[in-house]
Amino acid sequence: MFDSLSDRLTGALKDLRGKGKLSDADIDRTAREIRLALLEADVSLPVVRGFIAGIKQRAKGAEVSGALNPAQQVVKIVNEELIEILGGETRRVQFAKKPPTIIMLAGLQGAGKTTLAGKLGNWLKQQGHTPLLVACDLQRPGAVSQLQIVGERAGVPVFAPHPGTGIGGENLPAENGWVPLGVSSGDPVAVARAGIDEAVAQHYDVVVIDTAGRLGIDEELMRQAADIREATNPDEVLFVVDAMIGQDAVSTAESFQAGVGFTGVVLTKLDGDARGGAALSVRQVTGRPIMFASSGEKLEDFDVFHPDRMASRILG
Ligand code: GDP
Repeated sequence: MFDSLSDRLTGALKDLRGKGKLSDADIDRTAREIRLALLEADVSLPVVRGFIAGIKQRAKGAEVSGALNPAQQVVKIVNEELIEILGGETRRVQFAKKPPTIIMLAGLQGAGKTTLAGKLGNWLKQQGHTPLLVACDLQRPGAVSQLQIVGERAGVPVFAPHPGTGIGGENLPAENGWVPLGVSSGDPVAVARAGIDEAVAQHYDVVVIDTAGRLGIDEELMRQAADIREATNPDEVLFVVDAMIGQDAVSTAESFQAGVGFTGVVLTKLDGDARGGAALSVRQVTGRPIMFASSGEKLEDFDVFHPDRMASRILG
């Protein structure tokens, strides 16, 4: 996704190579090229401004260190500033002292929440946890059975309302790994609560709550997600955002932050060929860390987000 940004940044920094000493004009020219590269990649303007100001200030004031030539020093500064806008340290999941840990997923329809629930379940299992996925997207027809399918694929049980009771009226087969609620329910808050009770009773140590999204922001969506958050008091609320949606990623993040609130961000579809820079702005704009990245439809196309590794990838 960041190939073109990576090429442009490498190009901008390459011009500095071989120079014994960098003048302010060299730094200004490089900063201008970096600025263009970031804007072209769709990184949001205030983030770019702060980034460029930081680089200029540090590059112009940099002491010439023995080990690095001036060009290498600028590369180092750009790398460090990039890590900074991506969040600095890797942010790990905060597990509850007393299980179950509750992780709620929120985001627009199509962002990749249900797919992520399976990936997260798979990842949690690999970490030695015993997750339970809870189907609270009762809006989108087929969402419950989709969660059931990803749960089966990941070998993680799914807690869902009774067959045929989704708002979409789907008639769900009760198959392996699916824990029916036993009561009819179209109420996502009730399903979330019952899912947590089930986790306590059966000693699952992490509950992943999949919630409904809409194609665009709307009040009802926000209220429903906020109600689920209030009723379940999650340890983590992950805002799931499609990195391909450009600047909308930033505005959607701001709306969710105001309407629901979240503790971390998951970037999805990083395998796409869109410019993706907007998603890189989400950390800076919302102040919430990017915690995971998803880069494909398979269970394994998923990892903890490491700002330093992403910065190195972008700098090529
Ligand atoms: P939800 O509405 O938020 O639950 O989104 P879904 O999990 O149903 O995902 C929407 C579509 O995006 C599905 O077709 C997924 O297979 C696809 N998808 C999810 N994550 C990724 C990803 O990281 N990369 C790609 N290429 N596709 C993804």
